[in-house]
Amino acid sequence: MKFLSSLSKKQLAGKTVLVRLDLNVEASDIAHSIRIQRAIETIQFLCSRGARVVVASHRGRPQPLAEAMTNDQFPIPKISKGETLRMFKNVFQKALKEKVTFFDYFDFKKIKEEIAQDSNGIFLLENIRLLSGEEQNSKTLAKQLASLADMYVNDAFAVSHRAHASVAAITRYIPSYAGIELEQELVAFKRAKQKTADPLVLVLGGAKISDKIGVIRSFAHAEAVLTGGGIANTLFAAQGEYIGKSLYEKNVSLDDITRMKNVLLPLDVVWHEGKILDIGRGTAREYGDVIQAARMVIWNGPMGLTEQKKFRIGTRALWRAACASKAFVIIGGGETTSFIESIASAPQLRLKHIFLSIGGGAMLDYLSGKKLPGIEALERK
Ligand code: ADP
Ligand code: MG
Repeated sequence: MKFLSSLSKKQLAGKTVLVRLDLNVEASDIAHSIRIQRAIETIQFLCSRGARVVVASHRGRPQPLAEAMTNDQFPIPKISKGETLRMFKNVFQKALKEKVTFFDYFDFKKIKEEIAQDSNGIFLLENIRLLSGEEQNSKTLAKQLASLADMYVNDAFAVSHRAHASVAAITRYIPSYAGIELEQELVAFKRAKQKTADPLVLVLGGAKISDKIGVIRSFAHAEAVLTGGGIANTLFAAQGEYIGKSLYEKNVSLDDITRMKNVLLPLDVVWHEGKILDIGRGTAREYGDVIQAARMVIWNGPMGLTEQKKFRIGTRALWRAACASKAFVIIGGGETTSFIESIASAPQLRLKHIFLSIGGGAMLDYLSGKKLPGIEALERK
């Protein structure tokens, strides 16, 4: 795999670089999102070395446009506030003090001409998932994207578990590099697989139960798997314990997981209106102790309904334990990281032993030992 960080100023000056970023955040989260901060750092890296930067990303889950709309209609019709990338024109302009051109159309010939007219600057494409070829990993779209630039950088770990055109297929048509953020992710996750990662602790919570619960099977070697949120509820239910109207998943076969001796369930929980909405204080203390004694902690998913103040105590306590721990701590998952970004102090966010991953699904796939198409594509010669 080739890394952007290894390229010199000379190798980048005057080049046009297409960067796949993950800008998929709520408008209200942009200001404090590490995802956006790291995207800005990568663009900065490129601009400061004299490259022109073309940014491709997705946001939300838009319905792909009809073919005709991608060429003839300016601006692209029918795009909602939650799906457009338009606001990043201002975000990047302000943070980077560079001219940013936003394309509200997908006529690649015209886009290419526009880029050629400027010798530097940042060019921002509209939500790439508006093109049906993106999720189909289409060669045609990959070639169109490749035609815009001299080289390609994947700096979107969070979508690297997807075989999409701007993540996977594009690497066949243009020299391709892992970006700075992606490199940091790979370094952090490599540490989790080393011998020095023992005792290793997995913390698993949240609401995407069916996506997550199977990950536990890959952690038979872990010292402990600490469960909370919908994951714990589902394990309680599988053991025949009463969970009332709590969030859980039916119809999953969990016998092997409930037999795993290292899987811990909450000792006490917080009930509200017939639902379990957080781990209890005793559990938070016990889990905190386990985290402090670990050498490696991997955490995905909140322990409770963190959208409501009353049910943040467990997740907040584990964050404090992570900060105080001597372990190397990787934290991922969209809601988990945005909650932590909202409660963490600036010095806590600078702690060297904590890495906030931008991956959710990608992190889970990686931990389960699955191959990530975006990473594979960069490894292919
Ligand atoms: P992440 O995005 O970090 O991977 P998920 O998407 O799996 O996490 O789940 C996050 C959601 O889980 C949050 O909105 C949180 O409120 C919810 N959650 C956690 N615990 C509970 C619970 N006990 N009951 C209901 N929702 C919960
Ligand atoms: Mg989520």
